[in-house]
Amino acid sequence: MIFSLLGKRVEARALGAPSLPSAAADFRGKGGIAKLSIFLVALLITPITAQAQHPSAGSGQAFDGAKAYEYAREFAAIGPRWPTGPGHVKAEDFLRSHFQRNHDQLEQDAFTADTPIGSVPMCNFIVRFSGTKPGAIVLATHYETNYPLRNINFVGANDGASTTGLLMAIADRLRAEAAVSPGKKLSGYSVWLVFFDGEEAIRQWSASDSTYGSRHLAAKWGRDGTLGQIKAFLLADMIGDKDLDIQRDTNSTAWLVSLVAEAAKKFGYQRYFFQQEMDVQDDHLAFVERGVPSIDIIDLDYGPNNSYHHTAQDTMDKISAHSLTIDGDVFLETIRLIDQRN
Ligand SMILES: [Zn+2]
Repeated sequence: MIFSLLGKRVEARALGAPSLPSAAADFRGKGGIAKLSIFLVALLITPITAQAQHPSAGSGQAFDGAKAYEYAREFAAIGPRWPTGPGHVKAEDFLRSHFQRNHDQLEQDAFTADTPIGSVPMCNFIVRFSGTKPGAIVLATHYETNYPLRNINFVGANDGASTTGLLMAIADRLRAEAAVSPGKKLSGYSVWLVFFDGEEAIRQWSASDSTYGSRHLAAKWGRDGTLGQIKAFLLADMIGDKDLDIQRDTNSTAWLVSLVAEAAKKFGYQRYFFQQEMDVQDDHLAFVERGVPSIDIIDLDYGPNNSYHHTAQDTMDKISAHSLTIDGDVFLETIRLIDQRN
């Protein structure tokens, strides 16, 4: 990923933004007559829409960030996972065996990337959970580490591993929800988890030397019509950071940014989201360019003066289960909000 900071503009608008329909569920747990007046005041100032309390991905218990952290720890323990390296083969084996063991619907999207070091074999992984509504929501991450950093023991605990762990723990939730649902389907859109290969530049970041996996898959899904099924594309990148501050990416789709802000607000997580605005180049762009509503949920401020980013300091002690809990809660709630949109 690469970005440019657009001044020091604080994006107050994102947080203060008008009010998508706020949930009556916000008041859940504060029930009782004593709170009725507060609820009525809220009714006067906020449009309330009825929200079905069906068991959905976003409801129920808090997200298990500790589980996501444990997956990330196991994945980072593989070591560096640069394309063509031995750790990359192990990383592929890790993902393949995990989802096969859980009997998930796994697709391996192997392809050859044309890179500055020649042809490089790469592989995206796609895990699908079917829903009752036609259409799909994609949650994505990248899993590999940088080829140029292959000699510094760069394990990408935050950059690649944390969000791989996050999506694995989200898969646990979706699998459990589907298991107890009629027809073994999620109530709502299908959810597809995508683990991209080749996000990082092989030599130096450019439009042609970066995001190999997402460019390959977006083009393939454009050709075969799959893109038309995608209601939203949500990318997670570097959001395991203990000191979580997710920027508002200006290339992301506005209504999806608003929805994520609304989801964050539900949990009181506003301070972690969208306090700063940036122009981010990442795996979402190939989808944005093809008209898929997309958002990059990314924290580009990692360590003092960003000193942990793309260095050997990107290790598990810099990320936290708490940040992954915030991420998981917001992703699952965003899925729920997208399901309710139409
Ligand atoms: Zn990176």
